[in-house]
Amino acid sequence: MPELPEVENTRRYLTQIGLAGRAFTGVNISWNNTLKKPSLKEFQQKLPGRQVQDIQRRGKYLLLPLDSGETFILHLGMAGRLRVHPAEQAAPPHLRHTFPLDDGRELRFLDGRKFGKLWLVADPQEALPVMGPEPLERGFSAEDLALGLAGREAPIKALLLEQWLVAGVGNLYADESLFLAGIHPLRSGASLAGEELARLRDAIVAALSSALAQYDRSRAEQWPDPPPALETWTVPRDKDTPCPRCGGAATSITVRARTTWYCPTCQPA
Ligand SMILES: [Zn+2]
Repeated sequence: MPELPEVENTRRYLTQIGLAGRAFTGVNISWNNTLKKPSLKEFQQKLPGRQVQDIQRRGKYLLLPLDSGETFILHLGMAGRLRVHPAEQAAPPHLRHTFPLDDGRELRFLDGRKFGKLWLVADPQEALPVMGPEPLERGFSAEDLALGLAGREAPIKALLLEQWLVAGVGNLYADESLFLAGIHPLRSGASLAGEELARLRDAIVAALSSALAQYDRSRAEQWPDPPPALETWTVPRDKDTPCPRCGGAATSITVRARTTWYCPTCQPA
């Protein structure tokens, strides 16, 4: 599932390919469940003619503020990706929705799993859940984590998946952050304190920053068709790859139905 690095990579792609300043000229939705708000009819009336003012991200959501004052919000779901292609370019696999632009290109939503979501709303709060701090913004601190984790007995792995604790972290980057911090995924949130919280904060920032640097390189090397997903993490996600720190074997457990990998030596219980 796309997490903060994949969505931010998409935001940077859309920025570089020049989506801002373009106006939509149409709407082609092939899978109605993707559109959460408003109705398809209203969406088809409101989007055409509207110009994209900016390309923003909050957590795993992409926000396109429009010159109407409304915001076009996109969530990539499990496997969605966005491309801007000339309208005459052959349709790639899993192309679900197209939004023609005023320069002969179109914004294309590819979505093999069909878990993507779209909204057109007056206020982004109509679409976005309550989310915690953006981990790559300057103010993100160990104190933010301490406040969010106070009294929370659930495993830290499960809590990291909750967007109200920190925005944009999903299964892969939660595992990577805990590995870098040397924290066992089943430790209760409330049991972490002091130095451990500082390590976890730094590990989240390091994991996401390293991923973004790899996405930036791959985007430059493979422009205009960068890969949608890279394996940017260092925690082994199989039993055969040795732990890069201790050389031992990694272990997997299931936390809240998500496969969780960790090193039992480097992340003691
Ligand atoms: Zn290890």
